[in-house]
Amino acid sequence: MTVPANLLLLAGTREARMLAGALKDQGRWRVTASLAGVTSEPVDLAVETRRGGFGGVDGLVRYLQDNRFSAVVDATHPFAAQMSSNAAQACRRLELPLLRLERPAWSQPGRTGWLDVQDTDTAAAALPPGARAFLTVGGNSLEPFRCRGDVWFLIRTLEAIPGGFPFAQGTFVHGMPGTEAEVEAALMQEHGISHLVTKNAGGPAYAKVEAAVSLNIRTIMIARPQLPPAEIAGDVAAAMVWLEAL
Ligand code: NAP
Repeated sequence: MTVPANLLLLAGTREARMLAGALKDQGRWRVTASLAGVTSEPVDLAVETRRGGFGGVDGLVRYLQDNRFSAVVDATHPFAAQMSSNAAQACRRLELPLLRLERPAWSQPGRTGWLDVQDTDTAAAALPPGARAFLTVGGNSLEPFRCRGDVWFLIRTLEAIPGGFPFAQGTFVHGMPGTEAEVEAALMQEHGISHLVTKNAGGPAYAKVEAAVSLNIRTIMIARPQLPPAEIAGDVAAAMVWLEAL
């Protein structure tokens, strides 16, 4: 009987949960999932799960060595650039196989009212005075918008923002992105939204973009950060194939 090899799954996305479930059923790997620990009530991953940072690249190298991991799958969010960079450096140092599970980005080539920007600073600057913006960039990326006292904001974050509403004008809602365009459209209409500002996360949160398109609401799409080169799988099935081949 072969002993399952140890796999570290850097989680924090729906795809990470799906991969954890598929690997558990397959039984070939002993999977440890890792969460940053930023969500107070994370969805159960169905495999052994640790929480919290590793302590940078050196900490991750130590953790991988101490627990005899044979491979790493980085299924963190496409904007979790620090973790992805740390994983790439640690795996290079230990010569461990690393796969990044990265869902394809959204695109609307040539669509009127769609503006691709490089970062949150550019997104904040692109909003016209008097705009009513729906901001779905995550609680950690609000700072660049603080200077826009001339814009009304509807902010959606997973968790409540400590200290209350952070801007001069607007309100917030908490919870997961809606998965139905009609629901997202109703929310935007209720608040008279003129601009959607969002990160190009890819994946199922596209309903808000569909809703914006249907209502002719302008979309400011923040591009993904540059990540170190790695082997990439676009979905869970491709990640399973990669793992199978190891
Ligand atoms: P980040 O900036 O790339 O990472 C900051 C630090 O948090 C890392 O250096 C690491 O600490 C720790 N960390 C991040 N992901 C971890 C994981 N899966 N397991 C253990 N430690 C982790 O990440 P972030 O943007 O703050 O995102 C944090 C988590 O939320 C990620 O797992 C990500 O998938 C998820 N998320 C992020 C976004 C987003 O827009 N950024 C959206 C949805 C979900 P050490 O250096 O101490 O190891």
